Amino acid sequence: MNHDEPGDAIRVHGLTKKYGDHLVLDGLDLHVPVGRIFALLGANGAGKTTTVRILSTLLPFDSGQVTVAGHSLPGAAQSVRRSISVTGQYAAVDKVLTGRENLMLVAELNHLGRTESRRRTAELLDRFDLVGAADRRAETYSGGMARRLDLAMSLVAHPQVVFLDEPTTGLDPRSRREMWSVIRELADGGVTIFLTTQYLEEADELADRIAVIDGGAIVAEGTPTELKKLVNGGHVELQFADRTQFDRAAVALPGAVTDAGTLTVEVPTDGSIASLKTLLDRIDSPELSVEQFALHTPDLDDVFFALTGAPRATGSDSTKAAVR
Ligand code: ATP
Repeated sequence: MNHDEPGDAIRVHGLTKKYGDHLVLDGLDLHVPVGRIFALLGANGAGKTTTVRILSTLLPFDSGQVTVAGHSLPGAAQSVRRSISVTGQYAAVDKVLTGRENLMLVAELNHLGRTESRRRTAELLDRFDLVGAADRRAETYSGGMARRLDLAMSLVAHPQVVFLDEPTTGLDPRSRREMWSVIRELADGGVTIFLTTQYLEEADELADRIAVIDGGAIVAEGTPTELKKLVNGGHVELQFADRTQFDRAAVALPGAVTDAGTLTVEVPTDGSIASLKTLLDRIDSPELSVEQFALHTPDLDDVFFALTGAPRATGSDSTKAAVR
């Protein structure tokens, strides 16, 4: 494959990083074309933050080649820093300042001058839907507003590459969707986005390409469609009140996975309306009474199961609770 079309904003080859004896990145390879959204998908402890910290010059690495915005690390760290921004789990927002003051501060630190700082601040407040809250202290902001302000602050100096480390972890569904739309707009404006996430759904919504990281190595890479083709985790779970109902359902739904102990039947689905309608038609009978109906969409656990036949590699200090 020719990696020079349309030009790579990020190239990583054979990247390794150790903390003491602990090998955290084990020969990582990836590349991100200019203007695209790339998602690094992995569980807690897989190595996502370490990767972001290395690519954004905040952490040294042991071996490998790393180029960001055309500059090689570790040598050209200053040039890389001028071309990028990082927002992440630890926001740069100063909570005692207002949103406007936070933005003005960053603008002045970037030597934009008073007039240009004011203009850029007003533009970003507007673009990130923070005009109404501009003169309130950031400590009064909701989680979603604080993340948007953090992202706005990182854009003051027009970076070419933006690193977003788990941009929606901990946000409610509505704030998450607002964040997604802001990220999409950024990419539409030509900015390259390197995103880390624990959520398959988020990578699927946003990314042009996804790499799955596990135990410090990339275990799969492709478009969201290519990746989802690997995953057969989508199913409807039907729960029945008694054994008679359960037995009838097992006969009516050949190919389903049945569990007599819990009286549940799992029917595979791609989540499309057509497949759900077919299923509903089959169970819509006076003899069958479904106690509970739940749709399970594929998640990170399903990706790992599809890739490795096991939930996750032992190097990840992940927990079930971390994955939706
Ligand atoms: P999370 O979502 O929890 O941030 P992550 O995928 O970003 O997970 P990293 O933070 O990159 O994972 O951590 C990768 C591994 O490196 C983990 O096993 C972690 O415990 C370990 N690690 C991270 N920072 C350090 C450090 N400063 N010293 C020693 N080990 C570390």
